[in-house]
Amino acid sequence: MTSTDWSDRGLCRTADPDDLFVEGAAQNRAKMLCIGCPVLTECLAYALDHRIEHGVWGGMTERERRALLRRRPTVTSWLHLLETARMEHERSQDAAAAVPRAS
Ligand code: SF4
Repeated sequence: MTSTDWSDRGLCRTADPDDLFVEGAAQNRAKMLCIGCPVLTECLAYALDHRIEHGVWGGMTERERRALLRRRPTVTSWLHLLETARMEHERSQDAAAAVPRAS
């Protein structure tokens, strides 16, 4: 699997690129495309790891990604960080579901 194989599964794959590479308030509409996208994590990690400066990727605008990169300057692999966080979240969800409820 190459680092961009995920893009074939993106909800925006049939969208007009002009709808994603917009400015200002139009970016909030562009971000709505990302809600529920099955490859949101991969997309965001790719944009962060490759320092992509334009457009909405993984539900974040370039301004939001820049701010995140400034807050976490020591992260060397966003893909690793975000996938680890996703796995831990899924494990905690599984553990919570396994706890019997008091009746
Ligand atoms: S997260 Fe958004 S920009 Fe990335 S592939 Fe999905 S829909 Fe497209």
